[in-house]
Amino acid sequence: PVRVRFCPSPTGNPHVGLVRTALFNWAFAKHHQGTLVFRIEDTDAARDSEESYEQLLDSLRWLGFDWDEGPEVGGPHAPYRQSQRMDIYRDVADRLLDAGHAYRCYCSTEELDARRDAARAAGRPSGYDGHCRDLTAEQKAAYEAEGRTPIVRFRMPDETITFTDLVRGELTFTPENVPDYGIVRANGAPLYTLVNPVDDALMEITHVLRGEDLLSSTPRQIALYKALIDLGVAKDIPAFGHLPYVMGEGNKKLSKRDPESSLNLYRERGFLPEGLLNYLSLLGWSLAADRDVFSMDEMVAAFEISDVNPNPARFDLKKCEAINADHIRLLDVKDFTERCRPWLAAPFAPWPAEDFDEAKWQAVAPHAQTRVKVLSEITDNVDFLFLAEPVRDEASWTKAMKDGSDALLRTAREKLDAADWNSAESLKEAVLAAGEAHGLKLGKAQAPVRVAVTGRTVGLPLFESLEILGKEKTLTRIDTALA
Ligand code: GLU
Repeated sequence: PVRVRFCPSPTGNPHVGLVRTALFNWAFAKHHQGTLVFRIEDTDAARDSEESYEQLLDSLRWLGFDWDEGPEVGGPHAPYRQSQRMDIYRDVADRLLDAGHAYRCYCSTEELDARRDAARAAGRPSGYDGHCRDLTAEQKAAYEAEGRTPIVRFRMPDETITFTDLVRGELTFTPENVPDYGIVRANGAPLYTLVNPVDDALMEITHVLRGEDLLSSTPRQIALYKALIDLGVAKDIPAFGHLPYVMGEGNKKLSKRDPESSLNLYRERGFLPEGLLNYLSLLGWSLAADRDVFSMDEMVAAFEISDVNPNPARFDLKKCEAINADHIRLLDVKDFTERCRPWLAAPFAPWPAEDFDEAKWQAVAPHAQTRVKVLSEITDNVDFLFLAEPVRDEASWTKAMKDGSDALLRTAREKLDAADWNSAESLKEAVLAAGEAHGLKLGKAQAPVRVAVTGRTVGLPLFESLEILGKEKTLTRIDTALA
């Protein structure tokens, strides 16, 4: 049975790279009717925070992910927060030491640095040189007497490590490129290098799917796994698949610190979870050459890890928005009407709550649904309905109000006054006729009307908008523009 894991560290805001990793693991688990384990890697007390933990859970729930084992749902390998599993790591570290798979290393940082620099200068490999690998009891006692506090270092076997990456194919690492590495700090705190594979082993993970940035830790983890098998802690070595880097602006790796990588930003801008996930699934994978828009059910049905492309994927915000827009069009109109709610109220909406009009919103929503790329755009598109005075966008005003606009507006007002206000078509005819009277095509004639009534040159279909706003307000706003 397939068992995969998603194991973020709760440091800072969730970012899109982390979501992509979660998504691929989730899709892989579902595709194989396997189990998704959600584990929190919070052993770095200095960087992890409870707030980030809460945010992580909230974000994953918002995106619609579910997991079979982990926080909130429990499971046979609980607890799923590493900060609550410290006894386990201490015990495993002791057993690795006893069996000789690990040793105490007394080298100070200064000594390590000096030897590394010397090795570099001499053109030798600059990783740990094995200084403390085989200390005698006397040497150890002497270091202890000096008051040195050792770290625990894993003893890499002197052998080449080869594995078949599920995305990249066969990869080989030679021993000089994978030196012995620390697994427990001098203060006794276990490191990621230990806790991550130990938990993968105990939680019986069969497939490790994670970002390419972790590829260099894989040969170490495979070696550690072999030691864990020797101790009876692990059964088998899992398969590994490394997902491609995500590149941002200027073809640089998208980093957690880039503002466009923050998940909260997408949430606040009103991306739909299904739109965002659809786009993120394309970072390294595709459903079909001619289909960019699909549901998560379709993704799950089609997802094969061997189809993931190892080449770096480019994050393209425009495309992300376009795909989100497509998902907005696909919503049931009632659903759309409800999902916009947050942007129709403070702090996003500039109108007083009591001026919001539900009937007008219901009437305008279908028109807005065909226009917005992200839900937050709704606010600017409908504010003319709920603000006492329309916004005054100077650029729009200058652009639309030309010599002759006043004359046009006067005629338009007259014709609109006489029009049938239960018909957007009739309102269109009125503006069309006003334009004809002044030698203007509809497009030119409607611009000043739009700016007078909504304050902007662009917006929802104009005549439907006027109909919903109503005759009285429309005419008053034209009068104000003329005053
Ligand atoms: N906690 C690690 C991270 O967030 C997990 C890496 C892994 O998947 O092995 O980078």
